[in-house]
Amino acid sequence: MPSLAKYIAALSIGSLVSATLAFAAGEGDRMREIGDGVYSFTIGEGNHSMFVVGDDSVAVFETFHSGHSQKMLEAVRSVTDKPVKYAFISHNHWDHASGGQVFSDAGAQTVMHQRAADWVEANPGRDTALPDMTWFGNRKDIDMGDFTVRMHYLGLNHGLGMTIFTIPERRAAYIADLVTPNRVMFAVVPDFNIGEWERSLGEILDLDFDIAVCSHNELPRDAAMNGCTRSHVEEERQYIRDLRNAILAELQKGTGFMDIPKAVRLPQYAHWAGYDAWLEMNTLRLLTDLWMGPFPWVPDAR
Ligand SMILES: [Zn+2]
Repeated sequence: MPSLAKYIAALSIGSLVSATLAFAAGEGDRMREIGDGVYSFTIGEGNHSMFVVGDDSVAVFETFHSGHSQKMLEAVRSVTDKPVKYAFISHNHWDHASGGQVFSDAGAQTVMHQRAADWVEANPGRDTALPDMTWFGNRKDIDMGDFTVRMHYLGLNHGLGMTIFTIPERRAAYIADLVTPNRVMFAVVPDFNIGEWERSLGEILDLDFDIAVCSHNELPRDAAMNGCTRSHVEEERQYIRDLRNAILAELQKGTGFMDIPKAVRLPQYAHWAGYDAWLEMNTLRLLTDLWMGPFPWVPDAR
């Protein structure tokens, strides 16, 4: 691995992001039961996991990094001594797919979509581990006894192998990166195919859940512990549409390409985290996408 990549991999992106946003690092762990045996969990870096306690065993969702996973394991142990059977990881990126070894060592099986696992194998981070189990295709169910983990791969949207998890018996879901309540798109919108993202949000709205944990959540801290809802999925999609329409309106007016990022304003989102720092980046990214065509793209993504 080149030394720069090694250096960057050593940082916690979560804490970099939270330095400028609502969460401050080091405020301690928090967990909250948001549904029947469904818990949201954070260590205060802006990363939110979920775990579900069943009659026989526990499923955890999103390992983030070893420090986070170790604290989550302790949180699980504070509510039940049932074994953690699976640790589900949503997609390939280092800032989400690290830390799985903690749960493998605790006797769980870590799970990723094959497309995510292939990338992690080719691009290991300092804290990543290959999953104990992979799956391929668009859908797979894992039977946990009194509940089911439904895995949904919706095709291209963000990263590789991005999986949305639903637990129909508990009306719950786990959604990574595709929905971030109360925040504009992340910085330069890295590794998002924005058109496919918008499509995926519509498909998420067709899934069976009332309450979800979103991996990043910029609602006020206490509200963020309650997770996110279908209305946040709709708001995320509306932001994409409003930003695209604002860019198209500037193009229509004849505003110069490089003047458009400064010209676009969306005051209805001014209260969202990242608005001042990232709106121009969001605009330039979507503008290049509209100019060049959608990217990233791979054949046979679905
Ligand atoms: Zn990601």
